[in-house]
Amino acid sequence: MTEQREFDAIVIGAGAGGLFTAARLAHRGYRTLVVERLDKVGGRASTDDIDGFKVNNGAIVIEVGGITQQTCEEVGAPFEIREPSPPILYRIGGKDVDVTGGGWGLLLGKLTRQGAKLVKGIGAARSDDGLPEDEITTAEWVSKYTKNEGVHGIFRNMCASVFAVGSEDLPARVFLTYFTRKSAFKRFGFHPQGTIGLWQGLAEVVASHGGEVWLSTDVTKIVVDGNRVTGVQVERDGTTIDIASSIVVSDVGPAATVGLIGAGNVPADYRELVRKGDRPTAMISVNFASQERLIEAPGMLSFAKSRRVAYIANFTDICPEMAPPGWHLYVGTSVPKPSVGDFDEKAETDLLLEDLRDTIDGFDERARVLNIAITRDGWPPQRAVAGFDLPRDTPFEGLWNVGDAVKEYANGGTTACAETAQLVVEEIAATFSLTTSG
Ligand SMILES: Cc1cc2nc3c(=O)[nH]c(=O)nc-3n(C[C@H](O)[C@H](O)[C@H](O)COP(=O)(O)OP(=O)(O)OC[C@H]3O[C@@H](n4cnc5c(N)ncnc54)[C@H](O)[C@@H]3O)c2cc1C
Repeated sequence: MTEQREFDAIVIGAGAGGLFTAARLAHRGYRTLVVERLDKVGGRASTDDIDGFKVNNGAIVIEVGGITQQTCEEVGAPFEIREPSPPILYRIGGKDVDVTGGGWGLLLGKLTRQGAKLVKGIGAARSDDGLPEDEITTAEWVSKYTKNEGVHGIFRNMCASVFAVGSEDLPARVFLTYFTRKSAFKRFGFHPQGTIGLWQGLAEVVASHGGEVWLSTDVTKIVVDGNRVTGVQVERDGTTIDIASSIVVSDVGPAATVGLIGAGNVPADYRELVRKGDRPTAMISVNFASQERLIEAPGMLSFAKSRRVAYIANFTDICPEMAPPGWHLYVGTSVPKPSVGDFDEKAETDLLLEDLRDTIDGFDERARVLNIAITRDGWPPQRAVAGFDLPRDTPFEGLWNVGDAVKEYANGGTTACAETAQLVVEEIAATFSLTTSG
């Protein structure tokens, strides 16, 4: 038995990109269906319950004051992000330093006498002539100014925290564009229900406008007719359902999207473009808890010197709801070497654990490790290295990609996903007028 349904728009995947898109479409009046394979929303920015702890499976910080907040306000979704103050401390020479308000000058000045030259180099990037060529990596660009290990460590850990990639794999042009022209996560915070809380609010917006969010439902096929998309096929509770729509937005990444269309139905040049652009990054996260307070930073702690750890986040100072009463919840995260391609999982995890032991006295006795998550390949922290993103449109009329494989130049994470959704929904609104469906 095959059932038939029809919607104005279908979104494949309830990750950040998918739900930002669906909420915007629903808010504009498109009757929208979101289809998600897993039994909950959020994708790589969701939250698991582990013994009463709200453990994020991916994104932990959400930008405040940028396109994420703006989208929530536009569509009427709650935006309950709590900002730590100060947002971040840097461990430099054994001390946790607050450089809030002092910018690059104060931070780099703590590390090297060459700080002023570097700040000038960053400032020069504000004009197009001051941006380096694409070929130079961030690590190479920093080397032009200093050999100081601490400075290299700060840049490496910033690349890791924002772009989930090492400074030797991120073009300097991307780094400098981000920090001189984008909102650059200047303000950020945590969601008290774990990051999933944000997506639950957006899913409710979809439902409140007559849309539907189907969980535990697999899209098995994107149906095309020549160069036009006509719908999808899904498997739901053992039933195959054909869903017709002239608008399909995929949040599963272009490579998986091609798989759902069927490689044979896709023009060879686009297939090749997608194959080349499929460059996922990797991260390792140790989620841990304690009945003692283990770090002083009320939000994020980053490092000038570390083997691998890029940051430790302290959730429960401002979001005590994320742990059972009396407990503190933390995560320590690293980007492995190499950050793109294969790496030794055991050796890289050991390096992260060694850093946590160095940072937190008595880590093995005082901390309870809740899980160690290695995110890579098909479930990466970023589906494309920033600067190497694929286009959002496809060779098929009515079919778009959103999410972190199709970001705008020099953007990252959930903020970038929100931006892809805004751009795609604007294109949809300009191309397709609303029809009535049922
Ligand atoms: C460890 C880690 C830390 C991170 N930290 C941050 C951070 O602090 N801040 C930040 O902004 N970003 C962070 N990120 C990045 C951020 O999580 C991602 O950029 C973002 O969540 C990607 O969302 P997406 O919509 O592109 O894709 P996804 O989240 O992958 O969504 C795609 C969805 O599609 C579903 N799906 C796949 N195939 C099918 C199918 N055939 N049928 C139905 N459904 C399907 C999947 O289950 C998934 O839910 C982090 C990521 C990781 C892994």
